[in-house]
Amino acid sequence: MTNTNASLFERAQAVIPGGVNSPVRAFGSVGGTPYFVARAEGPFVFDVEGRRYIDYVQSYGPSILGHAHPAIISAIQDAAVRGTSYGAPTENEVLIAEEMTSRVAGMDKVRLVSSGTEATMSAIRLARGTTGRDKIIKFAGNYHGHSDSLLVAGGSGIAQQGLVGSEGVTAGAVADTVVAPYNVVPEVDEDVAVVCVEPIAANMGLVAPAAGFLEGLRDACDAAGALLMFDEVITGFRLCRGGAAEWFGVQPDIWCFGKVIGGGLPMGAFGASHEIMGNLAPLGGVYQAGTLSGNPLATAAGLAAMQHLTVEAYDQLSAIATRLADGMQAAFDAAGVAAVVPRIGPLVGLFFGATAPTDFDSAKVICDNGVYAKFFHGMLDRGITLAPGAYEAIFPSLAHTDAEIEETLVAVAEVAASL
Ligand SMILES: *Cc1c(COP(=O)(O)O)cnc(C)c1O
Repeated sequence: MTNTNASLFERAQAVIPGGVNSPVRAFGSVGGTPYFVARAEGPFVFDVEGRRYIDYVQSYGPSILGHAHPAIISAIQDAAVRGTSYGAPTENEVLIAEEMTSRVAGMDKVRLVSSGTEATMSAIRLARGTTGRDKIIKFAGNYHGHSDSLLVAGGSGIAQQGLVGSEGVTAGAVADTVVAPYNVVPEVDEDVAVVCVEPIAANMGLVAPAAGFLEGLRDACDAAGALLMFDEVITGFRLCRGGAAEWFGVQPDIWCFGKVIGGGLPMGAFGASHEIMGNLAPLGGVYQAGTLSGNPLATAAGLAAMQHLTVEAYDQLSAIATRLADGMQAAFDAAGVAAVVPRIGPLVGLFFGATAPTDFDSAKVICDNGVYAKFFHGMLDRGITLAPGAYEAIFPSLAHTDAEIEETLVAVAEVAASL
Protein backbone atom coordinates (compact mmCIF):
# COMPACT_ATOMS: atom_id res chain seq x y z
CA MET A 1 0.00 0.00 0.00
CA THR A 2 1.34 3.43 -0.82
CA ASN A 3 1.84 6.05 1.84
CA THR A 4 -0.63 8.83 2.47
CA ASN A 5 -0.12 11.83 4.73
CA ALA A 6 -2.73 10.39 7.08
CA SER A 7 -1.22 6.89 7.21
CA LEU A 8 2.28 8.21 7.83
CA PHE A 9 1.05 10.63 10.47
CA GLU A 10 -0.70 7.81 12.28
CA ARG A 11 2.47 5.69 12.27
CA ALA A 12 4.57 8.73 13.22
CA GLN A 13 2.41 9.46 16.24
CA ALA A 14 2.94 5.91 17.47
CA VAL A 15 6.72 6.22 17.54
CA ILE A 16 7.52 9.98 17.65
CA PRO A 17 5.95 12.35 20.21
CA GLY A 18 3.19 14.21 18.38
CA GLY A 19 4.45 12.63 15.17
CA VAL A 20 7.04 15.39 14.70
CA ASN A 21 10.67 15.98 15.61
CA SER A 22 10.17 19.70 16.27
CA PRO A 23 6.91 21.01 17.77
CA VAL A 24 6.56 23.84 15.21
CA ARG A 25 5.92 21.21 12.53
CA ALA A 26 2.83 19.89 14.28
CA PHE A 27 -0.53 21.21 13.12
CA GLY A 28 -1.65 21.66 16.73
CA SER A 29 -2.54 25.34 16.44
CA VAL A 30 -4.11 25.15 12.97
CA GLY A 31 -5.68 21.67 13.08
CA GLY A 32 -5.50 18.92 10.49
CA THR A 33 -2.85 16.49 9.29
CA PRO A 34 0.69 17.56 8.38
CA TYR A 35 1.83 16.91 4.80
CA PHE A 36 4.72 14.47 4.68
CA VAL A 37 7.37 15.66 2.25
CA ALA A 38 8.71 13.21 -0.32
CA ARG A 39 10.99 15.67 -2.11
CA ALA A 40 11.50 19.35 -2.80
CA GLU A 41 12.87 21.43 -5.62
CA GLY A 42 13.37 25.19 -5.90
CA PRO A 43 10.25 26.94 -4.57
CA PHE A 44 8.27 23.68 -4.33
CA VAL A 45 7.77 20.81 -1.95
CA PHE A 46 5.99 17.61 -3.03
CA ASP A 47 4.18 15.48 -0.48
CA VAL A 48 4.00 11.68 -0.37
CA GLU A 49 0.66 11.84 -2.21
CA GLY A 50 2.35 13.56 -5.16
CA ARG A 51 0.85 16.96 -4.48
CA ARG A 52 2.96 20.02 -5.33
CA TYR A 53 3.05 23.07 -3.06
CA ILE A 54 4.66 26.48 -3.42
CA ASP A 55 6.68 26.47 -0.21
CA TYR A 56 7.10 29.46 2.08
CA VAL A 57 8.37 27.40 5.01
CA GLN A 58 11.71 26.68 3.31
CA SER A 59 12.88 24.80 6.39
CA TYR A 60 12.18 27.96 8.47
CA GLY A 61 14.95 29.81 6.68
CA PRO A 62 17.89 27.56 5.77
CA SER A 63 16.80 26.95 2.15
CA ILE A 64 17.42 30.54 1.09
CA LEU A 65 18.50 29.47 -2.44
CA GLY A 66 15.38 27.31 -2.73
CA HIS A 67 15.22 23.57 -2.22
CA ALA A 68 17.76 21.16 -3.68
CA HIS A 69 19.85 23.88 -5.30
CA PRO A 70 22.25 22.19 -7.77
CA ALA A 71 25.32 23.93 -6.33
CA ILE A 72 24.50 22.74 -2.82
CA ILE A 73 23.70 19.21 -3.93
CA SER A 74 26.96 18.89 -5.82
CA ALA A 75 28.95 20.39 -2.91
CA ILE A 76 27.41 17.83 -0.57
CA GLN A 77 28.01 14.98 -3.01
CA ASP A 78 31.65 15.98 -3.52
CA ALA A 79 32.14 16.20 0.24
CA ALA A 80 30.32 12.95 1.00
CA VAL A 81 32.61 10.79 -1.11
CA ARG A 82 35.58 12.17 0.83
CA GLY A 83 34.06 11.08 4.15
CA THR A 84 31.33 12.45 6.36
CA SER A 85 33.16 13.31 9.61
CA TYR A 86 36.79 13.13 10.73
CA GLY A 87 37.32 14.53 14.19
CA ALA A 88 40.15 16.64 12.77
CA PRO A 89 40.13 20.13 11.24
CA THR A 90 39.42 20.78 7.54
CA GLU A 91 40.04 23.52 4.97
CA ASN A 92 36.32 24.22 4.54
CA GLU A 93 36.01 25.18 8.22
CA VAL A 94 38.69 27.81 7.60
CA LEU A 95 36.98 28.99 4.42
CA ILE A 96 33.56 29.40 5.99
CA ALA A 97 35.00 31.13 9.07
CA GLU A 98 36.89 33.50 6.74
CA GLU A 99 33.71 34.12 4.75
CA MET A 100 31.66 34.89 7.86
CA THR A 101 34.23 37.11 9.55
CA SER A 102 34.85 39.02 6.30
CA ARG A 103 31.15 39.88 6.11
CA VAL A 104 30.65 41.00 9.69
CA ALA A 105 32.59 44.02 10.93
CA GLY A 106 33.97 43.54 14.43
CA MET A 107 33.56 39.77 14.43
CA ASP A 108 37.11 38.41 14.27
CA LYS A 109 36.58 34.75 15.05
CA VAL A 110 33.78 32.21 14.95
CA ARG A 111 33.22 28.79 16.48
CA LEU A 112 31.07 26.39 14.46
CA VAL A 113 28.37 24.33 16.17
CA SER A 114 25.50 22.19 14.89
CA SER A 115 22.39 24.29 15.62
CA GLY A 116 21.16 27.73 16.57
CA THR A 117 20.36 26.42 20.03
CA GLU A 118 23.96 25.40 20.56
CA ALA A 119 25.14 28.78 19.30
CA THR A 120 23.10 30.84 21.77
CA MET A 121 23.70 28.44 24.66
CA SER A 122 27.45 28.60 24.10
CA ALA A 123 27.41 32.36 23.54
CA ILE A 124 25.79 32.87 26.92
CA ARG A 125 28.39 30.70 28.64
CA LEU A 126 31.09 32.70 26.88
CA ALA A 127 29.51 36.00 27.96
CA ARG A 128 29.27 34.83 31.56
CA GLY A 129 32.83 33.56 31.51
CA THR A 130 34.09 36.76 29.95
CA THR A 131 32.34 39.15 32.33
CA GLY A 132 32.38 37.00 35.48
CA ARG A 133 28.67 37.87 35.89
CA ASP A 134 25.62 35.61 36.03
CA LYS A 135 22.56 37.58 35.00
CA ILE A 136 21.23 37.63 31.43
CA ILE A 137 18.45 39.72 29.95
CA LYS A 138 16.20 38.42 27.17
CA PHE A 139 13.10 39.88 25.57
CA ALA A 140 9.61 38.43 25.70
CA GLY A 141 8.68 36.82 22.39
CA ASN A 142 12.26 36.42 21.24
CA TYR A 143 13.23 32.81 20.65
CA HIS A 144 16.81 31.69 21.17
CA GLY A 145 16.49 27.93 20.87
CA HIS A 146 15.69 25.47 23.61
CA SER A 147 18.54 25.58 26.12
CA ASP A 148 17.27 25.78 29.71
CA SER A 149 18.27 29.31 30.66
CA LEU A 150 16.63 30.78 27.53
CA LEU A 151 13.33 28.89 27.69
CA VAL A 152 11.42 31.76 29.26
CA ALA A 153 8.74 33.81 27.49
CA GLY A 154 9.93 32.43 24.17
CA GLY A 155 8.29 32.99 20.81
CA SER A 156 7.88 30.42 18.03
CA GLY A 157 6.60 26.99 19.09
CA ILE A 158 6.59 27.87 22.79
CA ALA A 159 4.20 30.75 22.21
CA GLN A 160 2.19 28.66 19.76
CA GLN A 161 1.51 26.11 22.50
CA GLY A 162 0.57 28.90 24.88
CA LEU A 163 3.45 28.06 27.23
CA VAL A 164 5.36 30.66 29.20
CA GLY A 165 8.34 28.36 29.58
CA SER A 166 8.98 24.65 29.76
CA GLU A 167 8.36 22.02 32.37
CA GLY A 168 11.59 20.34 33.32
CA VAL A 169 13.51 23.60 33.47
CA THR A 170 14.56 24.12 37.06
CA ALA A 171 13.95 27.38 38.90
CA GLY A 172 17.72 27.54 39.32
CA ALA A 173 18.32 27.36 35.56
CA VAL A 174 16.26 30.49 34.93
CA ALA A 175 16.96 32.30 38.20
CA ASP A 176 19.49 34.52 36.43
CA THR A 177 17.33 35.15 33.36
CA VAL A 178 15.50 38.48 33.36
CA VAL A 179 12.70 38.91 30.81
CA ALA A 180 12.01 42.40 29.48
CA PRO A 181 9.42 43.65 26.98
CA TYR A 182 10.71 43.92 23.38
CA ASN A 183 11.35 47.40 22.04
CA VAL A 184 11.89 48.98 25.46
CA VAL A 185 15.48 49.45 26.61
CA PRO A 186 15.61 47.71 30.00
CA GLU A 187 17.62 48.75 33.00
CA VAL A 188 21.00 47.06 32.65
CA ASP A 189 22.92 46.92 35.91
CA GLU A 190 26.42 45.76 36.74
CA ASP A 191 25.26 42.21 37.49
CA VAL A 192 24.30 41.67 33.86
CA ALA A 193 26.63 39.52 31.75
CA VAL A 194 24.77 39.82 28.47
CA VAL A 195 21.66 41.25 26.86
CA CYS A 196 20.33 38.80 24.24
CA VAL A 197 18.15 40.13 21.47
CA GLU A 198 16.74 39.19 18.09
CA PRO A 199 17.66 42.42 16.28
CA ILE A 200 14.51 41.86 14.22
CA ALA A 201 12.03 39.75 16.15
CA ALA A 202 11.04 36.95 13.77
CA ASN A 203 9.55 34.40 16.15
CA MET A 204 6.45 36.38 17.15
CA GLY A 205 5.50 37.12 13.59
CA LEU A 206 7.83 39.77 12.24
CA VAL A 207 8.37 42.73 14.58
CA ALA A 208 10.84 45.46 13.69
CA PRO A 209 13.05 47.05 16.33
CA ALA A 210 11.72 50.49 17.23
CA ALA A 211 13.86 53.48 16.26
CA GLY A 212 16.65 53.78 18.81
CA PHE A 213 16.00 50.39 20.49
CA LEU A 214 19.16 48.61 19.33
CA GLU A 215 21.27 51.75 19.80
CA GLY A 216 19.78 52.09 23.29
CA LEU A 217 20.75 48.52 24.12
CA ARG A 218 24.29 49.19 22.91
CA ASP A 219 24.57 52.28 25.13
CA ALA A 220 23.02 50.58 28.17
CA CYS A 221 25.37 47.60 27.84
CA ASP A 222 28.39 49.86 27.45
CA ALA A 223 27.43 51.89 30.53
CA ALA A 224 27.08 48.74 32.65
CA GLY A 225 30.03 46.83 31.23
CA ALA A 226 27.63 44.17 29.95
CA LEU A 227 27.91 42.42 26.58
CA LEU A 228 25.34 42.72 23.82
CA MET A 229 24.45 39.56 21.90
CA PHE A 230 22.59 39.64 18.58
CA ASP A 231 20.81 36.39 17.87
CA GLU A 232 21.08 36.50 14.09
CA VAL A 233 19.99 32.91 13.58
CA ILE A 234 17.24 34.19 11.24
CA THR A 235 18.59 37.60 10.19
CA GLY A 236 22.20 36.47 9.67
CA PHE A 237 23.10 36.25 5.99
CA ARG A 238 19.40 36.54 5.08
CA LEU A 239 18.84 40.25 5.62
CA CYS A 240 21.96 41.36 3.74
CA ARG A 241 25.63 40.36 3.40
CA GLY A 242 26.51 41.36 6.96
CA GLY A 243 23.20 40.63 8.68
CA ALA A 244 21.33 42.86 11.11
CA ALA A 245 24.45 44.47 12.57
CA GLU A 246 25.22 45.89 9.11
CA TRP A 247 21.56 46.66 8.34
CA PHE A 248 21.04 48.73 11.48
CA GLY A 249 24.60 49.95 11.94
CA VAL A 250 24.74 48.67 15.52
CA GLN A 251 27.57 46.35 16.52
CA PRO A 252 26.97 43.76 19.23
CA ASP A 253 29.78 42.03 21.14
CA ILE A 254 28.67 38.51 20.30
CA TRP A 255 26.82 37.21 17.22
CA CYS A 256 24.88 33.96 16.88
CA PHE A 257 24.10 32.33 13.54
CA GLY A 258 22.28 29.27 12.27
CA LYS A 259 19.72 28.42 9.60
CA VAL A 260 21.14 30.03 6.41
CA ILE A 261 24.80 29.27 7.14
CA GLY A 262 24.36 25.50 6.96
CA GLY A 263 22.86 25.58 3.48
CA GLY A 264 20.15 23.22 4.74
CA LEU A 265 22.44 21.01 6.80
CA PRO A 266 22.79 21.25 10.58
CA MET A 267 25.11 24.12 11.42
CA GLY A 268 25.24 27.11 13.72
CA ALA A 269 28.00 29.46 14.81
CA PHE A 270 28.81 32.13 17.31
CA GLY A 271 31.46 34.78 16.97
CA ALA A 272 33.04 37.81 18.60
CA SER A 273 36.27 39.80 18.81
CA HIS A 274 39.71 38.16 19.22
CA GLU A 275 39.62 39.21 22.85
CA ILE A 276 36.26 37.65 23.73
CA MET A 277 36.82 34.51 21.65
CA GLY A 278 40.17 34.13 23.38
CA ASN A 279 38.25 33.08 26.50
CA LEU A 280 36.97 29.97 24.72
CA ALA A 281 38.67 26.57 25.06
CA PRO A 282 41.31 25.62 24.05
CA LEU A 283 42.60 29.22 24.41
CA GLY A 284 40.68 30.07 27.57
CA GLY A 285 38.65 28.62 30.37
CA VAL A 286 35.14 28.64 28.86
CA TYR A 287 34.53 25.09 27.67
CA GLN A 288 32.60 24.36 24.50
CA ALA A 289 32.90 21.37 22.15
CA GLY A 290 31.18 19.18 19.56
CA THR A 291 31.91 15.81 17.92
CA LEU A 292 30.20 16.85 14.69
CA SER A 293 31.03 20.59 14.86
CA GLY A 294 32.31 21.92 11.53
CA ASN A 295 30.98 18.80 9.86
CA PRO A 296 32.38 18.43 6.32
CA LEU A 297 28.96 18.07 4.65
CA ALA A 298 27.56 21.06 6.53
CA THR A 299 30.52 23.32 5.80
CA ALA A 300 30.43 22.30 2.11
CA ALA A 301 26.71 23.11 1.87
CA GLY A 302 27.10 26.32 3.84
CA LEU A 303 29.98 27.55 1.72
CA ALA A 304 28.06 26.82 -1.48
CA ALA A 305 25.10 28.79 -0.13
CA MET A 306 27.26 31.71 1.00
CA GLN A 307 28.98 31.88 -2.40
CA HIS A 308 25.58 32.53 -3.99
CA LEU A 309 24.58 35.15 -1.42
CA THR A 310 25.98 38.19 -3.17
CA VAL A 311 24.77 41.76 -2.91
CA GLU A 312 22.80 41.12 -6.13
CA ALA A 313 21.20 38.04 -4.59
CA TYR A 314 20.01 40.06 -1.59
CA ASP A 315 18.55 42.68 -3.92
CA GLN A 316 16.77 39.93 -5.82
CA LEU A 317 15.42 38.34 -2.63
CA SER A 318 14.22 41.73 -1.40
CA ALA A 319 12.46 42.31 -4.71
CA ILE A 320 10.72 38.93 -4.45
CA ALA A 321 9.73 39.65 -0.85
CA THR A 322 8.44 43.09 -1.81
CA ARG A 323 6.23 41.72 -4.61
CA LEU A 324 4.87 39.11 -2.22
CA ALA A 325 4.29 41.42 0.74
CA ASP A 326 2.83 44.31 -1.26
CA GLY A 327 0.63 41.93 -3.24
CA MET A 328 -0.65 40.23 -0.10
CA GLN A 329 -1.35 43.56 1.58
CA ALA A 330 -3.27 44.76 -1.49
CA ALA A 331 -5.30 41.53 -1.59
CA PHE A 332 -6.26 41.80 2.09
CA ASP A 333 -7.12 45.49 1.71
CA ALA A 334 -9.28 44.76 -1.34
CA ALA A 335 -11.14 42.05 0.60
CA GLY A 336 -11.60 44.30 3.62
CA VAL A 337 -9.59 41.93 5.83
CA ALA A 338 -7.77 43.59 8.72
CA ALA A 339 -4.22 42.39 8.08
CA VAL A 340 -0.72 43.79 8.13
CA VAL A 341 2.08 42.26 6.04
CA PRO A 342 5.28 43.73 7.48
CA ARG A 343 8.46 43.46 5.42
CA ILE A 344 12.04 44.30 6.32
CA GLY A 345 14.31 43.71 3.33
CA PRO A 346 13.83 40.04 2.42
CA LEU A 347 11.94 39.22 5.66
CA VAL A 348 8.15 38.99 5.53
CA GLY A 349 5.57 38.60 8.30
CA LEU A 350 1.78 38.41 8.54
CA PHE A 351 -0.58 39.65 11.23
CA PHE A 352 -4.36 39.42 11.09
CA GLY A 353 -4.94 42.67 12.96
CA ALA A 354 -5.45 46.32 12.15
CA THR A 355 -1.99 47.45 13.25
CA ALA A 356 1.44 45.85 13.41
CA PRO A 357 2.41 44.78 16.93
CA THR A 358 5.54 46.14 18.57
CA ASP A 359 6.00 43.60 21.38
CA PHE A 360 4.99 40.13 22.55
CA ASP A 361 1.78 41.19 24.29
CA SER A 362 0.42 42.94 21.23
CA ALA A 363 1.66 40.12 18.95
CA LYS A 364 -0.05 37.44 21.06
CA VAL A 365 -3.45 39.12 20.86
CA ILE A 366 -3.26 38.96 17.07
CA CYS A 367 -1.51 35.58 16.69
CA ASP A 368 -4.04 33.88 18.97
CA ASN A 369 -7.18 35.35 17.36
CA GLY A 370 -7.76 32.27 15.21
CA VAL A 371 -7.76 33.94 11.78
CA TYR A 372 -4.34 32.58 10.79
CA ALA A 373 -5.53 28.95 11.00
CA LYS A 374 -8.30 29.65 8.48
CA PHE A 375 -5.90 31.45 6.17
CA PHE A 376 -3.31 28.68 6.53
CA HIS A 377 -5.78 25.98 5.47
CA GLY A 378 -7.21 28.07 2.65
CA MET A 379 -3.70 28.45 1.27
CA LEU A 380 -2.79 24.79 1.84
CA ASP A 381 -5.94 23.74 -0.05
CA ARG A 382 -4.68 25.86 -2.94
CA GLY A 383 -1.23 24.25 -2.90
CA ILE A 384 0.68 26.84 -0.89
CA THR A 385 2.50 26.02 2.34
CA LEU A 386 2.98 28.47 5.17
CA ALA A 387 4.30 27.58 8.61
CA PRO A 388 1.53 25.87 10.63
CA GLY A 389 1.66 28.56 13.30
CA ALA A 390 0.95 32.29 13.44
CA TYR A 391 4.18 33.13 15.26
CA GLU A 392 6.47 32.22 12.35
CA ALA A 393 7.78 34.37 9.51
CA ILE A 394 7.18 33.80 5.81
CA PHE A 395 10.26 32.68 3.89
CA PRO A 396 10.37 33.36 0.15
CA SER A 397 13.56 31.99 -1.44
CA LEU A 398 15.72 33.02 -4.36
CA ALA A 399 14.02 30.25 -6.34
CA HIS A 400 10.60 31.91 -6.14
CA THR A 401 9.86 33.57 -9.48
CA ASP A 402 7.14 35.97 -10.57
CA ALA A 403 5.06 32.97 -11.65
CA GLU A 404 4.98 31.53 -8.11
CA ILE A 405 4.35 34.92 -6.56
CA GLU A 406 1.45 35.51 -8.98
CA GLU A 407 -0.03 32.09 -8.22
CA THR A 408 0.35 32.84 -4.51
CA LEU A 409 -1.36 36.21 -4.78
CA VAL A 410 -4.32 34.74 -6.67
CA ALA A 411 -4.74 32.27 -3.82
CA VAL A 412 -4.37 35.01 -1.19
CA ALA A 413 -7.14 37.02 -2.87
CA GLU A 414 -9.46 34.00 -2.92
CA VAL A 415 -8.78 33.03 0.66
CA ALA A 416 -9.00 36.63 1.86
CA ALA A 417 -12.45 36.92 0.29
CA SER A 418 -13.54 33.85 2.27
CA LEU A 419 -12.31 35.06 5.68
C1 LIG B 1 15.58 28.99 14.96
C2 LIG B 1 16.16 29.92 15.94
C3 LIG B 1 17.04 29.49 16.96
C4 LIG B 1 17.31 28.04 17.22
O1 LIG B 1 17.96 27.41 16.17
P1 LIG B 1 17.89 25.81 16.04
O2 LIG B 1 18.79 25.50 14.91
O3 LIG B 1 16.45 25.49 15.79
O4 LIG B 1 18.36 25.24 17.33
C5 LIG B 1 17.64 30.44 17.74
N1 LIG B 1 17.40 31.75 17.56
C6 LIG B 1 16.56 32.20 16.61
C7 LIG B 1 16.37 33.67 16.44
C8 LIG B 1 15.90 31.30 15.78
O5 LIG B 1 15.04 31.76 14.87
